[in-house]
Amino acid sequence: MQNFNFQDFEIWFVTGAQLLYGGDAVKHVDAHSNEMVAGLNKSGNLPVKVVYKGTANSSAEVAAALSAANADKKCAGVITWMHTFSPAKMWIHGLKGYQKPLLHLHTQFNKEIPWSEIDMDFMNLNQSAHGDREFGHIVSRMRKNRKVVVGHWQDGKVHEHIAVWMRVAAAWADAQDMRIIRFGDNMNNVAVTDGDKVEAEIRLGYHVDYFSIGDLAAEVKRVSEKQVDELVAAYEKEYDFADNAKRGGKDHAQVREAARIEAALRKFLEAKGAKAFTTNFDALHEINQLPGLAAQRLMAEGYGFGAEGDWKTAALVRTMKVMAHGLDGGTSFLEDYTYHFKGKGSILQAHMLEICPSIAGAKPRMEVHPLGIGGKADPARLVFTAHEGAGVAATVVDMGNRFRMIVNLVDVVKPEAALPKLPVASALWIPQPNLEAGAAAWIYAGGTHHTSFSYPLTREYMEDYADIADIEMVTIDGNTSIPEFKKELRLNEVYYLLNRALQY
Ligand code: MN
Repeated sequence: MQNFNFQDFEIWFVTGAQLLYGGDAVKHVDAHSNEMVAGLNKSGNLPVKVVYKGTANSSAEVAAALSAANADKKCAGVITWMHTFSPAKMWIHGLKGYQKPLLHLHTQFNKEIPWSEIDMDFMNLNQSAHGDREFGHIVSRMRKNRKVVVGHWQDGKVHEHIAVWMRVAAAWADAQDMRIIRFGDNMNNVAVTDGDKVEAEIRLGYHVDYFSIGDLAAEVKRVSEKQVDELVAAYEKEYDFADNAKRGGKDHAQVREAARIEAALRKFLEAKGAKAFTTNFDALHEINQLPGLAAQRLMAEGYGFGAEGDWKTAALVRTMKVMAHGLDGGTSFLEDYTYHFKGKGSILQAHMLEICPSIAGAKPRMEVHPLGIGGKADPARLVFTAHEGAGVAATVVDMGNRFRMIVNLVDVVKPEAALPKLPVASALWIPQPNLEAGAAAWIYAGGTHHTSFSYPLTREYMEDYADIADIEMVTIDGNTSIPEFKKELRLNEVYYLLNRALQY
């Protein structure tokens, strides 16, 4: 994946303790913690390496550990655990300055109570049950978001929850130096794809820069015929071809032109250190065709993408691609296009061209067709239908006083029949709980027509992200009822107004 590797990150593990029980107790705590961290790493269930940072036995030690975590580039977050009782006032100074994701692992070293041997020494050493409650209190008292995972450290379910959070923590770290390149502005007059880029950088970390499409056009002119030949050969290996798009076909020149744009765009993004980009069909100037194929293939390499200048979606696509990295199933930019009012009701998701082939159900087909918008030459594109399966569709909107993330659980289904005349990639999904309530809730929440969609991700990932970013999140799922959902939106309005006044 472009510019991303889980191996570039670490998660630190800090065990809370105190010296009340004597130096021997701390030695046990330390030995147990070492064994647990080694066990977590050996489980093979965690995408990011856990690094044990020792016990923290005083306010100064906590502050030192957490400020070191803030400063360390590799550290994407900290896991805390209280083996014994760790009086939580000693966590105040450290937590006050701590800026990265926090996971509180509420576990204990032993899995079961040793009935015949348990004595007070054992109890004093193994008292996470109350030590972790003391720690949890101060985190709540300080209004710090964190994820609490409960269970024995060797349990696969516990690993799953930690793994989700690790993926999100790494995606969060990735977003903190994410540069998004926008060719042109947002599509004129469109409200929902626009927003406050300054607030986005403060709150979400990523940075959005504007470039003229002329800068890309200049790069297109520098692409050699050999580079084009190589890309077209790669296309021929990976995709089927429509007759007119094939070598010798009447529109093959458009495929070559698309390859030229792809090579230029990739080079441009690499040179600028960008992880995501947007285009605008209305601002193409010397570019011969809308860069649809390039957007499709660059998304498949891990770049975030949003059409019509939609930088918020470009950022979210990148972030969700990082979260999902290495998992089965794809992640793509999509747009709600057309409804099918039958049964539960479904939505045909598509775009003018730019859907990521990672969600394709079968080998994509290279086609060239006219595009009835933008007034440019006929663009090449990959055409396919997304495979069946559950997934999440998400968007972030700017509500004026805050960002709101809207998440809808959806079920991608097989279309009733082939769509032989549809010249673009598509996905047909049923939004949960059904089209009627799903679409109504989405609209009440102010959601976009653009989404970032992913098969392997679940609500838990999105919730971890919203908690880390400290933004509002509303979920539309199988239990959504419109009266309750409207109430949630109204309560959130009050919560976020008051939250500003209460911020620590
Ligand atoms: Mn669009």
